[in-house]
Amino acid sequence: MIILNLEKKENKGLQLEFEMPLALRRIVLLGGGESGAGAAVLAKKQGFDVFLSDSSEIKPKYRDILIKYGIAYEENGHTEALILNANEIIKSPGIPDKIAIIQKIKEQEIPIISEIEFAGRYTNAKMICITGSNGKTTTTMLTYHILKNAGLNVSLAGNIGDSLALQVAENDYDYYVIELSSFQLDGMYDFKADIAILLNITPDHLDRYNYEMQNYVDSKMRILQNQTEEDAFIYWNDDPIVKLRITNYELRENHATLYPFAQTKKDGVKAYTEDNKLIINTPNGIFTMEEELVALTGTHNLYNSLAAGIAAKLLDIKDETIRQSLSDFKGVEHRLEKVARVRGVDYINDSKATNVNSTWYALQSMKTPTVLILGGTDKGNDYREIESLVKDKVHTLILLGLDNTKLHQFFDGKVENIQDARSMEEAVNRAYDVAERGDTVLLSPCCASFDLFQNYEDRGQQFKDCVCKL
Ligand code: ADP
Repeated sequence: MIILNLEKKENKGLQLEFEMPLALRRIVLLGGGESGAGAAVLAKKQGFDVFLSDSSEIKPKYRDILIKYGIAYEENGHTEALILNANEIIKSPGIPDKIAIIQKIKEQEIPIISEIEFAGRYTNAKMICITGSNGKTTTTMLTYHILKNAGLNVSLAGNIGDSLALQVAENDYDYYVIELSSFQLDGMYDFKADIAILLNITPDHLDRYNYEMQNYVDSKMRILQNQTEEDAFIYWNDDPIVKLRITNYELRENHATLYPFAQTKKDGVKAYTEDNKLIINTPNGIFTMEEELVALTGTHNLYNSLAAGIAAKLLDIKDETIRQSLSDFKGVEHRLEKVARVRGVDYINDSKATNVNSTWYALQSMKTPTVLILGGTDKGNDYREIESLVKDKVHTLILLGLDNTKLHQFFDGKVENIQDARSMEEAVNRAYDVAERGDTVLLSPCCASFDLFQNYEDRGQQFKDCVCKL
């Protein structure tokens, strides 16, 4: 039986020459995780012929969803014949382009999109989208916190929480705050953010972009594609890469309305600090707030707060609600998270700092002599960026990695005391031994965690557990 099911929005992704009934259109999902399973459910509900393929084992949670909705799937391998007959492929952001099946799909010119692109076709919700090399999760959670406090019918999506597709399929909302990685943006073509936030661009994930920074930047800039002057583009005015791109972008007709933010007032900047106050200037009025009442500390978090504040103000949320939300936000686990004060020493967990830029901001926010726990899987880091902050603020470096050679080569002779540790327990005990009353012990590793830990959450949790045992 052919189910004739018309889509709610025009489906520009499928470049078909004639109107084909949806049940004859085949959508193949690559990757059976959160986004793949969610998109499969939405595609099924929309009446497509759906197949999901995963090269590894599918987690029981997602397998159960596929079974519940009667979706055909395979795991532990890709069967080409079942994939290359698709009209459109939805690829999980975790799958790199270089693998064989993707190459074959590209040879056959089958369109490849992301789950967010697909889900965006079936909802009229307002989309607040957040990207950047650092600060995405914090800003996404903060923006969500404000919108939720304002009583809006809002949900989280993207890298956080349930997939957008599953929510659109099961329980659509009026607003989504969506954390977007460059990998998700790569598969987005017609999707439009009503409000887009680009926090910063620094080198990251270059292994997925042929080691070309340009490719990574192009990918991040996709966040403003399709935006027109009714839409808002919020960005950090002092990011040299973004600034350069915006200079050209501004010349286009009917471009997004720009809302740059910066630490201090400058020409054209819409949000900044002045006389210890946050000032946010939008067509909905001027928002002000004492800087000391803002919950998140550090310059990087000031940027995150300004960005979220602009978005909230553009949605016409009451100043009182924005103020309250910016001041009672609890922060996000593993991001400059205060763990405990033990014998006058503060312990801070910044396990999510997996690149040099985020560690730079963590160090910059340190107000006391610091013991820094650093190391892990090096992603081609250039430690010169943090050299002067380390020299100024850090008296002891504890190198926590399987192979600390590169760190020794760079820091030996530059810091008073350098020690090696092979486990979190050893690192925390060493830190405890050398830290003096009034110091801070900071875990901000600058590196990925996979050499000694399952992931950054595991690394941060182990740190917290060890600190609690002191
Ligand atoms: P992402 O989701 O982009 O990885 P997170 O909010 O999880 O960002 O923060 C990752 C790391 O970057 C943390 O160490 C955090 O303290 C730091 N950080 C947060 N916001 C910023 C920012 N605006 N600029 C630079 N570093 C930031």
